[in-house]
Amino acid sequence: MKGAFLYGPKDLRIEEVKKPEIEDGEVLVKVKAAGICGTDIHYYLEGKTAVFVPKHPFILGHEFSGIIVESSVRTYVPGDRVVIEPQIPCFKCYYCRRGRYNLCSNLKFIGTAATFPHINGGFAEYCKVPVESLHRIPEELEFNEAALAEPLSVAIHACRRAIISPGSRTLILGAGPIGLFILLVAQLSGSIEPLIVDNVERRLDWAKEFGGYPINFSKQDVLEEINKVTSGEGVDIVFEASGSPRAVEVALKCVRKGGCVVLIGNLPNEDIPSRLLNIVIKEIDVKGLMRYANTFDAAIRILSKKLIPTSKIITHTFRLEEIHDALKVAIDGLALKAIVNP
Ligand SMILES: [Zn+2]
Ligand SMILES: [Zn+2]
Repeated sequence: MKGAFLYGPKDLRIEEVKKPEIEDGEVLVKVKAAGICGTDIHYYLEGKTAVFVPKHPFILGHEFSGIIVESSVRTYVPGDRVVIEPQIPCFKCYYCRRGRYNLCSNLKFIGTAATFPHINGGFAEYCKVPVESLHRIPEELEFNEAALAEPLSVAIHACRRAIISPGSRTLILGAGPIGLFILLVAQLSGSIEPLIVDNVERRLDWAKEFGGYPINFSKQDVLEEINKVTSGEGVDIVFEASGSPRAVEVALKCVRKGGCVVLIGNLPNEDIPSRLLNIVIKEIDVKGLMRYANTFDAAIRILSKKLIPTSKIITHTFRLEEIHDALKVAIDGLALKAIVNP
């Protein structure tokens, strides 16, 4: 089979390798759709992410769906259509037993260098997957749409962490794919016309089209704009989805007293100065977010019921051989979501 192996910075090679052999508790999935994520771009451009440095070549891709072609279990048979939850928790540790399996002490992850040996991902014709990572997808859901369940999960988890209620005023910092998914899920959760900040016009156009109130921070004063819209009160909830250290300070300033700030963005692995007294005085809840847990069912239902505009989200599709082009449109910011169809 063919697979796209990461060898180092900007060194991604499509190679012909043996099909993976499944063991007990695993299935072999013929990959039909695999989305390009910000993490894949980090790996591609830098050969690593802030915290994970690959020790050997491996196949990237953790947002994927496909058809089972071999199975070692009774519950799944060849022909079943599935989307893969790429986290592999132990289901035994303190966190797993409390349902917070995204924090698992022994977590493995498909398609990243998070654990050693690295587990091959979805930018390949076939991928072997443990049965616990499988979620069935309904007839009406296409493979490309199903591959969105993973990034959508991040947004669902973010909105659950924030506890949005009907009419909540929300602000999203960063209109990249995750920021835009949060914009959509925040509205499904009851937020009306969330404010969303970026400096890339194309992203702000998408944000407006998806029901947001766009603010361009290179042209407008964010704090002034927030004060205008909220009569000086600030917003109930801020989602920091840009990963910019400066945005953290903006978040603490824009949230109202008693409000909530959820930090989602890939912040740099360094100290970030901030006036924490604001958190005390305004009694702000500051929450972190590490991927997601217990979200795939909700994500699949949202996608199946067409509650988000998937045809507008999936802006580009490519064959596996064209994966370098797929990465390019994602890196250049032309794609909202680029999908590879191996
Ligand atoms: Zn991802
Ligand atoms: Zn665990």
